[in-house]
Amino acid sequence: MNGFIILIRCLKKLILTLNNLIHNLMATTKQLQELTTQVRRDIIRMVHKVSSGHPGGSLGCAEYLVTLYQDVMDRKDGFDMDGLGEDIFFLSNGHISPVFYSVLARSGYFPVEELSTFRLLNSRLQGHPTTHEGLPGIRMASGSLGQGLSVAIGAAQAKKINGCGHTVFALMGDGELQEGQNWEAIMYAAANNVDNLIAAVDLNGQQIDGSTDTVLSLGSVKAKFEAFGWDVIEVEKGNDIESIKTGLKDAKAKAGNKKPIVILLKTVMGNGIDFMMHTHKWHGKAPNDEQLAEGLRQNPETLGDY
Ligand SMILES: [Mg+2]
Repeated sequence: MNGFIILIRCLKKLILTLNNLIHNLMATTKQLQELTTQVRRDIIRMVHKVSSGHPGGSLGCAEYLVTLYQDVMDRKDGFDMDGLGEDIFFLSNGHISPVFYSVLARSGYFPVEELSTFRLLNSRLQGHPTTHEGLPGIRMASGSLGQGLSVAIGAAQAKKINGCGHTVFALMGDGELQEGQNWEAIMYAAANNVDNLIAAVDLNGQQIDGSTDTVLSLGSVKAKFEAFGWDVIEVEKGNDIESIKTGLKDAKAKAGNKKPIVILLKTVMGNGIDFMMHTHKWHGKAPNDEQLAEGLRQNPETLGDY
């Protein structure tokens, strides 16, 4: 009889644990979605205030950067430039600084109130991030496209030399792949077995002057990376948090296999604000007062505006 009671208690405990686990998993995705909505508000409020900046690509990468920083990266408290003993991230397409600054602030790197200084004179939040301003979370200048992957590869090799087993992440735009330096870096990383690097390409099919097909077609990005010796992971729904989580989990599972890894993230430029979606026209254009109000209406405040 005692054994039976113990068994029932054990079963109850197991059911409670499973319930909590499922609840926590669901809460995490819900929390990530709520944070993404708040990040969208931050992006359009920042760009609107100074009538300058790049909302389209920022909105398209909100889910990815929120998931990366809040759910995937193993980060230390505080910030130091070396980033030893933690995962680090490099943004190559620096013009999407609004989403980067918002995610950094909301991940605790600096006060969220500082987002109100975006692009102002003497602010630490310049239009394109640089290390000169000393903003926590920024490890390289970006904005001159095509350079971030090279930096990330160097940092990944430095991690190996320093005996640090953590991962280097990088994000670049698809239009950015038209820069030749990328292909030298892509060739170099495969030749040198840089397998602690997870790069991502924001494959939104748009760049500032039009679609990537119109400006300079990229052909099959997947076939190109594979031909250069990379492991390729495709995330068809690059604005879906569960799909992003799965893609990043698959990417991490491939680390350490002598090959660099790239995630091809199919996103929608301007995602989350209907009149900004599926077009290059909001690549580098700020919303006016009415457009801001409509964008905010579509993305209700979740965690509090700065
Ligand atoms: Mg693009």
